[in-house]
Amino acid sequence: MATERTFLAIKPDGVQRGLVGEILGRFERKGFKLVGLKQLVPSRELAESHYGVHRERPFFAGLVEFITSGPVVAMVWEGDGVIASARKLIGATKPLEAEPGTIRGDLAVNIGRNVIHGSDAPETAVFEIGLWFQPSELCAWTPADQVWRV
Ligand code: ADP
Ligand code: MG
Repeated sequence: MATERTFLAIKPDGVQRGLVGEILGRFERKGFKLVGLKQLVPSRELAESHYGVHRERPFFAGLVEFITSGPVVAMVWEGDGVIASARKLIGATKPLEAEPGTIRGDLAVNIGRNVIHGSDAPETAVFEIGLWFQPSELCAWTPADQVWRV
């Protein structure tokens, strides 16, 4: 399987509840590589582009309002199968349907406050990484076990 990258974002509820370290740790412990990380309050333009696919949905205005209401921790993670695997670690969109052991299953109850976003396919990952990050903000680095491997 080719190594791929995905875009993940801890939403304002996750930041405000102090869940940033907990969530970063889950992806680190899984074995994925963090290649981009920043905290920002998204502009309305950025939020509307990011959730553009949902533009016609009744929850769109509230979703944009919420995602621009405070800091978001935007991340790019790399690894084999990371797009689908991150979606599994995140769990179902409705937290009450998300399995225990997943981020939403363990840490959320409300669909409008479900803590984290993850790209759902290779094309959306490319689009979202380009939307949120400049190429110069992404770091290629080698994990210690590979640096020291002889
Ligand atoms: P996911 O984040 O799991 O990819 P979707 O792409 O379907 O889910 O929806 C994007 C986000 O919009 C969800 O994470 C959730 O925060 C919000 N959302 C989706 N459906 C609803 C809904 N029925 N009511 C309120 N918010 C919703
Ligand atoms: Mg989605």
